[in-house]
Amino acid sequence: MTDEPLTWGVVANVSLDVFTHQETGVKRPGTRHFVPGAKVWVLPVSWGDGGQQRFVVGMRRGTGGRGLIRLVMNTDFFVNHRLKPVHSPAVHAAMGQPRDDGRTPRLYESRDEAQRSVDSAKWVRTRVNHLGLTDDPGLMHHADETCVFCDGRDAARGGSDVNPYPAVTEHAAGSVDFWGTDHGLWRCGWLTETHQRDPGRIGDLGVRHLALQRRRVRRSAGTLARTAVGRTVAELEADGIGRNRLRFVRGDYQPRLLDGVVHAWLDDENRVVRTQSG
Ligand SMILES: [Zn+2]
Repeated sequence: MTDEPLTWGVVANVSLDVFTHQETGVKRPGTRHFVPGAKVWVLPVSWGDGGQQRFVVGMRRGTGGRGLIRLVMNTDFFVNHRLKPVHSPAVHAAMGQPRDDGRTPRLYESRDEAQRSVDSAKWVRTRVNHLGLTDDPGLMHHADETCVFCDGRDAARGGSDVNPYPAVTEHAAGSVDFWGTDHGLWRCGWLTETHQRDPGRIGDLGVRHLALQRRRVRRSAGTLARTAVGRTVAELEADGIGRNRLRFVRGDYQPRLLDGVVHAWLDDENRVVRTQSG
């Protein structure tokens, strides 16, 4: 008897930010099948869409921990992907149920393949957007995504300059590979925040551009935060303001500040009562 797992898997959580239309027709936290924060197993890419739609396995809401289901979901709902061995025969069986076409879905072939999927999710969610590595700005991550750029930014706001990640020697300073490490990304968040008032003090050309870009999106978020108060969801949605600029919040949930994003708290009439902007 060994501790050898049945297979290697990737788990993630349904973001606390997720707010979707559900059976009752109203929007509420979580998804139709999963409560906010639910743990889900994310299977490998099966279709040629870059991996946005995936098979996932998790505990269906309202089943008291006995409703393990597999379904296809948009991975935009998930945060904090990480590697995890599968030891539960029930989870393993749910993953391997035949698809509609009778074929068996592919599982990760190795620990390495699962780890690569974790790394890829982290890169796409916290590197591509913060480092401006695309001409399509894409979505800012959810507030509960672990993000070392935002950690570095918040450390600068709190007056700390202690980078918790070991210095990087294997990548050339200033390269994308360097800034893409945890050490580099934390430092990038710290630098752009520390010199927010005067980006001209940043010597690195790329980082100075990022600081200027952060200033632009934050200014525009500040304006939206002021003008959104008192308006309704329907009015704001009619303006075509996307999730990258405006996210609705209910109750006492306090999301982390995100660059360029306005969080707008709603009352029972779906009217914005207060906002925060990052
Ligand atoms: Zn971040």
